[in-house]
Amino acid sequence: MFFLWLLLAVLTAAVAVQEPVPHFGPFCGTRAAVYDNGTRATNWAEYIAEYELKSGLSGQGAVDAWEAEGGPIPWPRMGAHGVVIPYCFTQAKDRRNVRNVVENAMAKWIQYLGGPAGRESGHAIRFKERKDAHEKPMYCAPTNYRDGWNACLDKDTVAIEYTEGKGWGGSVGLKRNGKPWQNLVHIADGYTLLGAMHELGHVLGLVHEHDRSDRDTYIRFQYTKLADWDACWARARSAEGDRITPDGLCKSMYRALAYDCTCATFIKNFVEPGWPIKPRSGYDLNSIMHYPSQNGYAKQACNERGEDCALKVWVDWNNHGFGTTLLNQARRPSEMDLLWVKTTYPF
Ligand SMILES: [Zn+2]
Repeated sequence: MFFLWLLLAVLTAAVAVQEPVPHFGPFCGTRAAVYDNGTRATNWAEYIAEYELKSGLSGQGAVDAWEAEGGPIPWPRMGAHGVVIPYCFTQAKDRRNVRNVVENAMAKWIQYLGGPAGRESGHAIRFKERKDAHEKPMYCAPTNYRDGWNACLDKDTVAIEYTEGKGWGGSVGLKRNGKPWQNLVHIADGYTLLGAMHELGHVLGLVHEHDRSDRDTYIRFQYTKLADWDACWARARSAEGDRITPDGLCKSMYRALAYDCTCATFIKNFVEPGWPIKPRSGYDLNSIMHYPSQNGYAKQACNERGEDCALKVWVDWNNHGFGTTLLNQARRPSEMDLLWVKTTYPF
């Protein structure tokens, strides 16, 4: 997504486990699905069918935004090569700065998916840097013109860039409209492996779990507690006077974007204007696509002391009277994230 994914260096260690999930082999490098009792499934398709039956889930395990007019599409299959996601670094300096973290994040996704694309791992994803005939990296832009597109490269290539002092971002799935730079990952300073993995989740087609229309059952989100709320509200107010209300600002994608407000990244049910979110199954607090409580968008009091946080998780979603607690950062793609990749991009 094009908005903020500002990670703080302070990341808490534990993952908030909210519901029992089956042990999903790939975490330890196992190349096939493993059932709870430790036996290996014959193949992923069988395992997935059984998982859905057992969990009462139908369909995929996470949220995406397919099928919207002009919206993203899944990366296509390239025959025997599987699903190749091509990428380039914008210029040599981007490659110098973030190649390590980006390629490590790609390797981590592949590892968690159970190894390279193939029958055993059950997925078809391959990330591939564009190189010339001499195996030298091809850059998205010419050396002397950062905004120009390298005519030798397919316009669908994911451009990866390092934007110092700016926000993180990742476009969702494949945007194919004949224009370059539609498929883009921004990595900013303070980059982390988890942040890069989250952005690659977007590239695969996953969107923010915390923006699902049913999120209020599971999390409490209060936009007035966002770090930039006061400044954002002041901008909107000075432009529109009392014609605008807080809800009118932060519940509208267009308004929130117009005033450059962080609350734009928390609009319920939308990825970008006109692209509704498609939940494929139950709410997943463990998704790598779910923002944690303590993050770049949160106030200092939240990040330092866990107080006054904009996003918290209900202790008991059946009874909000038990109050809220902090939601920790997922340390890896959740079972549902991985399941979604395998069902979207089966081998
Ligand atoms: Zn994101």
